[in-house]
Amino acid sequence: MTQAASVVSAKDLCLTYQANDAPVHALSNVNLDVRKGDFVSFIGPSGCGKTTFLRVIADLEKKTSGDITVNGMTPEEARKARAYGYVFQAPALYPWRTIDKNIALPLEIMNYPADERQKRIAEALDLVGLTGFEKKFPWQLSGGMQQRASIARALAFDADLLLMDEPFGALDEIVRDHLNEELLKLWARTNKTICFVTHSIPEAVYLSTKIVVMSPRPGRVTDIIDSPLPRERPLDIRESPEFLEIAHRVRDGLRAGHSYEH
Ligand code: ADP
Ligand code: MG
Repeated sequence: MTQAASVVSAKDLCLTYQANDAPVHALSNVNLDVRKGDFVSFIGPSGCGKTTFLRVIADLEKKTSGDITVNGMTPEEARKARAYGYVFQAPALYPWRTIDKNIALPLEIMNYPADERQKRIAEALDLVGLTGFEKKFPWQLSGGMQQRASIARALAFDADLLLMDEPFGALDEIVRDHLNEELLKLWARTNKTICFVTHSIPEAVYLSTKIVVMSPRPGRVTDIIDSPLPRERPLDIRESPEFLEIAHRVRDGLRAGHSYEH
């Protein structure tokens, strides 16, 4: 078997924000290799650099030093090649546009013809289980459904890489469990590569093939865990000894990060 291609590769990646008072080292010497088909979670407390890392991949921030490639290209080339879909923390849907029109917007901007737009909207809605809701406005949907619609919008380009920044952070646990299960099914069906930010240990362990544990001292990676769990995961895998062992290791990594604080 040939090794899967590298989708995101970071080598000694650093990003320092020049704030007014003092520089913030949001990413310090991050080394990471994300392979095609991986589901990678980034976990760590607020302010540790998770969003910054996704934004560097998406070419929304520029690295200060080190190297990063996305599908073997610079982030700028990858952005121009529409290499990724981005799901933001808040649903970020336009309230005056129906769900189908929200999903259509980036396709309109890129001048996709109308029939191609319709086809892609229908496919994306089907993937997130929202077929039949295309003419609803965002405010007519529950929080969970709004977040599904945001995912559908990110899927509409059919990019191989999905960047998701705490997409389920604002949802209650029951809805989150359900969407976690649905996301795993979607990932299995589409064979996408996913970079997913969370601060929930069970969510990270349940979803991921690789877990990147980050430290509250901004930008440090304290542990990278390759999950031994099978790719197909019923929710009750969360009670298995293997699951609890990984969760324990994540917790240790988060604690180790804390002890560096001064
Ligand atoms: P996370 O997503 O893990 O909560 P972020 O990546 O948003 O963390 O932020 C990492 C660090 O960089 C934090 O200390 C944050 O305050 C700082 N930061 C983020 N964006 C900027 C910016 N535009 N200018 C200055 N500092 C920033
Ligand atoms: Mg963030």
